[in-house]
Amino acid sequence: MSELPLYSMIIDGKPVLAATTFDVINPASGAAFARVAAGDATHVDAAVAAARAAFPGWAALPDGERSRLIGALAEVLQANMPELMRLVTLETGKPQDGLNHVGAGMEVGGAIAWTQATSQLALPVEVVQDNAEARVEVHRKPLGVVGSITPWNWPLMIAIWHIMPALRAGNTVVLKPSELTPVTTARFVELANAVLPPGVLNLVTGAAGSAVGPAMTTHPGIEKIVFTGSTATGRKIMGNAAATLKRLTLELGGNDAGIVLPDVDVKAVAPKLFAAAFHNNGQTCACLKRLYVHADMYDELCAELVALARAVKVGDGFDPASELGPIQNRMQLEKVEAIAADAHRAGGQFLCGGERLPGPGYFYAPTIVVGLDEGSRLVDEEPFGPILPVIKYSDVDEVIVRANRNSNGLGGSIWARDLVRAAALASRLECGTVWVNEHGAVQPDAPFGGIKQSGIGVEFGLHGLAEFTSIQTIKVMQD
Ligand code: NAP
Repeated sequence: MSELPLYSMIIDGKPVLAATTFDVINPASGAAFARVAAGDATHVDAAVAAARAAFPGWAALPDGERSRLIGALAEVLQANMPELMRLVTLETGKPQDGLNHVGAGMEVGGAIAWTQATSQLALPVEVVQDNAEARVEVHRKPLGVVGSITPWNWPLMIAIWHIMPALRAGNTVVLKPSELTPVTTARFVELANAVLPPGVLNLVTGAAGSAVGPAMTTHPGIEKIVFTGSTATGRKIMGNAAATLKRLTLELGGNDAGIVLPDVDVKAVAPKLFAAAFHNNGQTCACLKRLYVHADMYDELCAELVALARAVKVGDGFDPASELGPIQNRMQLEKVEAIAADAHRAGGQFLCGGERLPGPGYFYAPTIVVGLDEGSRLVDEEPFGPILPVIKYSDVDEVIVRANRNSNGLGGSIWARDLVRAAALASRLECGTVWVNEHGAVQPDAPFGGIKQSGIGVEFGLHGLAEFTSIQTIKVMQD
């Protein structure tokens, strides 16, 4: 019998095991550190039944009471921060602190901040007419059961992004974490169930290729799916959800362009660009993934970025010196290697990196490639790893067209001293969020989401909250 700690599913407030378990790997060592219940479609049925039974009571709670309970979940996260941070590093590999403080501390700290902020959001009744003829009110009502499916790169944070607005709006939830990183989420759901009524928040875990995800996306008892993950899986989910006409929020892949104008201070801007591209090893949806640099300072900026890549400390996330950890899983490491091999074949010059680092874990050297344009995999596809193409341009109007010539549309950035010019260019980028002199920073009150094949809908703030509701218009004639 394995000595590894075992994490259960949580259905109707109770821990539930399955006939079998699957192992969760620590990517810094390649060894298993935990086991998790291998659920199946029958567990999805049980979780949906529990969530449906809990829905009327949860939806009928006074709004202030739901707000208070969500505030209490922020306190639960805060009280358990050290344990949750440890689990985040064990399953994702990300350092406790990390490059630019993007690490396990940010993941749990962000989860707390988003939970607090979401507890304070409200969608009051909107009155669109109130006169002698009639009163017309627009009400926001919860949908019912929301199914949440999360990826492996920010497992706790993204689960919080899904769960909190769903609950705040009065829905109940069935949550399925990635089989690669289910542990922090499982522990959080266990803790949350000491605060929430049974059945309000349920967790079903499934092994690789399990029926759990498809069972959720086809389930007639689930009204909406909120999904964060790859565009390929997003397409499958949309197809599966069609039969029951589920509402969808899809936060999918990104291949964000950053455009550096020639007026920047190269030395000042280089560390910011480096962190925007390499934090969490490039495994963030809104990392900077294609860097377009004006010819006037191209060589100078490349030299700065290479110096930063060579200096950054890559290692076990529990070593306080580590700024970057391993790539989260072997398949992703092999994908990065395949894209690097393609870049070689396409004539890319590797200014640094381009190889695995020694050790049993999935470590890869931060890699900067020049000499490629659109038409190569490294520029056109999201590598989701520590490898950045730096692309030369000389005409600003032309580079906007090149940056937009991509099927993704999550984020983008303009880097410039002339903020008026930068803002004008920003609005010409085809993506859901544009940053000027920053990239990838999100906040709980500003909507975030992708256009084109980066997704459907937005998260955060009132716009995000509204996605977990349906509208009911009530018209009362006055006589
Ligand atoms: P993924 O492979 O698409 O998996 C995401 C989730 O979907 C996992 O829980 C997975 O379960 C589940 N899943 C797989 N097949 C399914 C199916 N047929 N039906 C229902 N669920 C299914 O994505 P990932 O590799 O974990 O995450 C990386 C991707 O997420 C990147 O493309 C990144 O850009 C994107 N992302 C986007 C955002 C955003 O806000 N736009 C944020 C973060 C990440 P299993 O793991 O059990 O297979």
